[in-house]
Amino acid sequence: MRYYLWTIGCQMNFADSRQAAVELDGIGYSEAGQPQDADLILLNTCVVRQSAEDKVVGRLTSLQGLKRRRPDLRLALMGCYVSEIPALQDRYPWVDAFIKPSDIPAVIEFAKEQAAASAYHDTECRRPIAEPLVSTGVPISQGCDHLCTYCIVRLRRGPEVSRPVDKILAEVRGLARRGVKEVTLLGQNVDSYGHDLPPLASPSPHPASGQVLEAQAQPEEEGDGSSRSPDLADLLEAIHEVKGLERIRFLTSHPADMTDRLIEAVARLPKVCEHIELPLQSGDDTVLRRMGRGYTVEQYRDLVGRIRLALSGKVAAPGAAGVQGLGLATDVIVGFPGETGAQFEATYRLLEELRFDMVHVAAYSPRPDTPAEQLPDDVSPGEKERRRKAVDNLQERIVGKINARLLDQTVEVLVEGRHKGRWRSRTRTNKLVFFDVDEEDWTGRLAHVRITRTGPWSMQGAVM
Ligand code: SAM
Repeated sequence: MRYYLWTIGCQMNFADSRQAAVELDGIGYSEAGQPQDADLILLNTCVVRQSAEDKVVGRLTSLQGLKRRRPDLRLALMGCYVSEIPALQDRYPWVDAFIKPSDIPAVIEFAKEQAAASAYHDTECRRPIAEPLVSTGVPISQGCDHLCTYCIVRLRRGPEVSRPVDKILAEVRGLARRGVKEVTLLGQNVDSYGHDLPPLASPSPHPASGQVLEAQAQPEEEGDGSSRSPDLADLLEAIHEVKGLERIRFLTSHPADMTDRLIEAVARLPKVCEHIELPLQSGDDTVLRRMGRGYTVEQYRDLVGRIRLALSGKVAAPGAAGVQGLGLATDVIVGFPGETGAQFEATYRLLEELRFDMVHVAAYSPRPDTPAEQLPDDVSPGEKERRRKAVDNLQERIVGKINARLLDQTVEVLVEGRHKGRWRSRTRTNKLVFFDVDEEDWTGRLAHVRITRTGPWSMQGAVM
């Protein structure tokens, strides 16, 4: 039995797809290179922006003919496109299953039914797990409690639900045993991780103690006598102890939820990379208020200042050259309803001032049933595109200059594998570095490279 898996959207979707692939491998499926070679097709979908939804619809439509020719083929749709299943069934009668976002058990159940229905009974070719990865995402929460007026995520994924610390820890330990060196903890808003979990079993470790936190049975007494749930700082502390793991990242943060405790943990824990994804969305207070973001430009600026200050003195992991500072990434939406030229200019100037390492910029698109859908979508497509390109061009200049400062510096990189005949690696600050070394396999190694060429999107280096 063979599966074909197509994924679009956020890192959470890609993590779900990897998990589905691992579990499909585990029950005897193998991956097909193209849809026509598969017995099972899974489309893992995204609807955060209209452009993503258009691609999903295009893909579904293009598979209709294949399904007609191959009625035995099973087609399942999962991810954020899946809501109001009866309406989807009417619209896409050639789809066999509609599976809610991140519901991997339902995918596997569906795949098992398909395998049982076929003549396939060869248990011999079951293989345990796909090849080991160097770096992978680990979901720590699902859904989101924020009510950003433009965003469909809460409507499709529901309110935030955190996974218990011990479950995440067990998964990370298993990954490290299989050779994973870096995990990225994933959630729509990782900064509010744990607020819905039961209180901690034992007092959380003092920041300097390095103790590991596991069970969650007994309430912890805080200074004021109340108990407290684990938070992302506790989770980082716990995962930090996992043997074999070299690096930890997390995304995405929310500016209204990032605590000093978390910043302190990032600054203190050597394995936690100096890389933060902190969506700004707009550099204008009126637009931020209408987006329902819950912070002002001044609060965002202050937060960035505190993060940079806290991390400026960080001694990176043993042996690492701590010359890179912080890799700060953000998201921006241009052309939100009512965004004037002056309000866009304010965003542009803030990006110039804060100098991010990466800006994911999107033109606003109205999403069904969101509050912003009720507002007139009054910035023309041409103007949205002009603003989007202006941000892209600005960012290319800024990051080009930031990266140029790394020339001749030695940085620690984690080697992810081969890419077009070269070794592809990443700095702690999430920058791509390519280098050449002929002998042996460098995959999964931490290396020190001297940067020999820089550009906005990647750099080249030589192993020291
Ligand atoms: N945690 C993130 C945050 O704090 O905003 C949300 C992640 S969201 C799933 C990914 C990005 O998609 C958002 O940061 C936003 O920039 C973009 N996005 C969401 N809804 C959008 C819309 N209606 N139009 C354009 N971009 C949108």
